[in-house]
Amino acid sequence: MIESLLIANRGEIACRIVRTARRMGVRTVAVCSEADRNALHARLADEAVVIGPAAARESYLNIGAILKAARDTGAAAVHPGYGFLSENADFAQACRDDGLVFVGPSPDAIRAMGSKSASKEIMRTAGVPLVPGYHGADQDPAVLQRAADGIGYPVLVKASAGGGGRGMRVVERADQFEAAKREAKAAFGDDTVLIEKYLQRPRHVEVQVFGDSHGNAIHLFERDCSIQRRHQKVFEESPAPGLPDATRRAMGAAAVAAAKAIDYSGAGTVEFLLGQDGGFYFIEMNTRLQVEHPVTELVTGLDLVEWQ
Ligand code: ADP
Repeated sequence: MIESLLIANRGEIACRIVRTARRMGVRTVAVCSEADRNALHARLADEAVVIGPAAARESYLNIGAILKAARDTGAAAVHPGYGFLSENADFAQACRDDGLVFVGPSPDAIRAMGSKSASKEIMRTAGVPLVPGYHGADQDPAVLQRAADGIGYPVLVKASAGGGGRGMRVVERADQFEAAKREAKAAFGDDTVLIEKYLQRPRHVEVQVFGDSHGNAIHLFERDCSIQRRHQKVFEESPAPGLPDATRRAMGAAAVAAAKAIDYSGAGTVEFLLGQDGGFYFIEMNTRLQVEHPVTELVTGLDLVEWQ
């Protein structure tokens, strides 16, 4: 059992983690920027350490300062929350190297799912259904164009390193790949793109998964996040309305297979698109607790932070 926990985050998620830790008798250490000295998360925790100036780069993203705070306070574990360093494999590794428990998956699992292209290849091998598309290493515009011609227009071109609904472009014609690559490079410093068939009015249904450190994985059902604005979720519903039981079961099984394929531990979310044809297709996996985890807590009655 972990006796003390440093929370490498701020705001709502940091407060939420403190509440569960306290109920479990775990001592909490908050970190905060100079601007957050009096923030609620810093006041709620048993102890708070100022780790740097207001700019996130110098505080909440400052791995050295966070690890020093953990050493200085004798914390045994680090919870990254969501955002900030939560999906940073180097941070997870640095915690391990310092003898701290990183409350999340292994650095390898984070890395494997950090690239939309590489993660799709792993899922293909694991037998998880994918949106028809191309996620190969050969990024020659002529190759991309041939792939898109084969898939059939319109296609969706995504920055492999993208996220948050950014770095996606619907391509109707063959001559737009150079522009899509330039956009990916400008936004994410990496011009690797993948191509997917652009599904007409798909639903977005994601499955909450948990893995332990002995190779076991389970799912805690789905959240339907089809109501979006600019490809970002606005509304979350669980259970997904009108989802046939057979589909729910198959999606749960596919999500568990996805988690097992990368030896996943801790909380994760496997995202699928549900097509008009009733088929479902893996699009990506988030290797952290998500903002919307309370929706699953409400329907299951479980405390997901405690599970972590
Ligand atoms: P991000 O990581 O930026 O959130 P996702 O790959 O998770 O990007 O996709 C976000 C949303 O974009 C999906 O929920 C869906 O609404 C839309 N989308 C993604 N892929 C496709 C696709 N192949 N066809 C149609 N819409 C898609």
